[in-house]
Amino acid sequence: MRPRYILIFGPPGAGKGTQGRRLAAKLGLAYVASGDLFRQQAEAGTELGKVAKQYMDRGLYVPDDITIRMVLERLREPDAARGAILDGFPRTLAQAEALEGALAEWGAGIDLVIYIKISEAEALRRTRGRWVCRNCQAVYNLETNPPRVAGFCDVCGGELYQRSDETPETLRRRFEVFAEQTLPLLEHYRQRGLLVEVDGERPIDQVFRELEAAVGRLVAG
Ligand code: ADP
Ligand code: ADP
Ligand code: ZN
Repeated sequence: MRPRYILIFGPPGAGKGTQGRRLAAKLGLAYVASGDLFRQQAEAGTELGKVAKQYMDRGLYVPDDITIRMVLERLREPDAARGAILDGFPRTLAQAEALEGALAEWGAGIDLVIYIKISEAEALRRTRGRWVCRNCQAVYNLETNPPRVAGFCDVCGGELYQRSDETPETLRRRFEVFAEQTLPLLEHYRQRGLLVEVDGERPIDQVFRELEAAVGRLVAG
């Protein structure tokens, strides 16, 4: 079977990572999040990580050439041979074109595009309580999705930390950048009939059920 590719869009805190990981596990696809890849590089102290961190901490997008190379390399790894859930990539027109070019070469294409919507006020609440695993990047929330043992990851026992780009100022900037540079991309997918929009302000399980239904239609159709 040809590989499947599902894109997840949404402003910061929408639940892309939370839903994307669950969906990937359910479908047996790789979960690929550009933000996670950058944070792993930053944690490891690589050159790429140092450059990326300068942009991330200002709430700006990392330049396209760096981002495209990193994500396409990740998609060529063996665990992504059946396809992937892409969280946070593409975010610009150049990235979208590069992705479609690569997928076409692999005899594949974009199967579904999910847009999870939330308000800026809800994003502020959620990102304040967000804690991330240093080891496996799993995401928790002190209020809505706490780990079983405070400070440690349920999945791998790793230490949890708060991202350095979650200040109110950075969050505002990230919201603006999303509206300016990424929202326009969605029009293109809507016109091709690929877009499914969901209300992300509901509980995690409810949002997931809606995504399962959308993916079910895809598999059935
Ligand atoms: P994104 O990847 O879009 O930035 P995350 O999946 O990291 O979003 O979720 C942001 C924060 O909100 C995390 O702390 C997560 O645990 C929490 N969260 C995710 N989805 C929901 C939801 N539907 N209701 C309440 N909290 C949520
Ligand atoms: P959130 O989950 O809050 O939406 P991410 O973890 O996806 O945030 O991304 C964090 C930061 O990583 C972004 O603010 C940006 O600096 C950088 N980044 C992630 N994906 C991309 C991308 N596709 N293009 C450019 N920069 C990106
Ligand atoms: Zn972990």
